[in-house]
Amino acid sequence: MFRYLNGMDDKIKCKCCKSENTIKKGYRKTEKRGKIQKYLCLDCGKYFTKDEGFYRMRNSEKIITMSIDIYLSNLSSRKMRNQLERHLETKISHVSILDWVRRYTLKVQRYVDTLSPKLSGKVYADETEIDCEKRNDVFWCSVDWDTRYINATLYSSNSQNVKDATNFMNKIKKSVLPKYVQTDAAKFYPRAFRKVFYSIYKENNNVKHIINNVRKSKKHNVRIETVFSKIKDRVYDFRGIKALWSAPILMAGIVLQHNYIEKHTTTGQLPSELAGIPNNQGVNKWLEMIRLATFNQT
Ligand SMILES: [Zn+2]
Repeated sequence: MFRYLNGMDDKIKCKCCKSENTIKKGYRKTEKRGKIQKYLCLDCGKYFTKDEGFYRMRNSEKIITMSIDIYLSNLSSRKMRNQLERHLETKISHVSILDWVRRYTLKVQRYVDTLSPKLSGKVYADETEIDCEKRNDVFWCSVDWDTRYINATLYSSNSQNVKDATNFMNKIKKSVLPKYVQTDAAKFYPRAFRKVFYSIYKENNNVKHIINNVRKSKKHNVRIETVFSKIKDRVYDFRGIKALWSAPILMAGIVLQHNYIEKHTTTGQLPSELAGIPNNQGVNKWLEMIRLATFNQT
C-alpha cells in the first residue's frame, strides 16, 4: 500500500530520532522558497523541516517543476532558460535545468518502479535510431494499446540485434503477459519473440506475435504511431546533451511525461490513470509525483 497525498500530514517524524512526538514551531525563511514550516521534536529537542522533495534546493518548486515539465514536453533547456529570464526574471543556467530534469526523473522513476499498472496486454513494440554524437543509439519502446501506457523501454548504444531485442521482449514480459506483441517485419523480432515467449518445456501461453509488414499490408496503425512519433520528435531535439550516461535518463523522463504527466489527446486521460493508478487530480503533476516519490521513499 502507498500513502497518497491526503494522508501525508498525519504524523511528522523527527529527522534525528524518528519520534512522532513533534509539534509545529516557527518558520525558516528562505530566499527563493518563502517561509518553510519548522518542527520541534519534544523528545530530542531538535528543530527540523519536512522534506517534500525539494530539501535544500535553491529555487522554488514551482520554477523547478515548470522547467522539467516544459523541457520534457517541448523546449530545449536553453529556450527554457530564456523563457524563465524573460517572463519570471529568474536567471538559471540551462545546465541547472538539465540537472533538475535528471535528478527528479531518477527520483520519480524509483517510485514508479514500485507501482503495478494494470495493462490490456495488447502490446505494440518498435525501435528507433538516435543520432548521438557519432554513435547510433537505439531506443526500444512498447505501448500497451488500451491504456497507451509505455510499458517497456530499452536504451542501447548498439545497433539493432537479437540480443537487445530479446532483452527488450523480456522487459515487456515482466510488465504484462501479453495477448499479442505487434512489431514491424525486422528480422530480429521473430527470434527474440521465440526466445522469450516459447520454450521446449513451456506452453507459450498463446501469446501471439503479429508482424505488420507495412510495405506489403500498407496498413499503418495511425493511433499507435502517434505515441511513437511524439516520443521520436522529442528525441530528435536532444542535441548536444547526449552523453551516454545522460541520454537514457532523459528518455526515462520523456516516458514519465507520457505515462504520468500529460493527458493523452485521444483518451483524455493519463495512461497511468487508465492503467488503474490513482490520479490525485492536481494540476502540477510533476510536483505531485515528486512529493509522492518523497513520501514513499524507503
Ligand atoms: Zn527527535
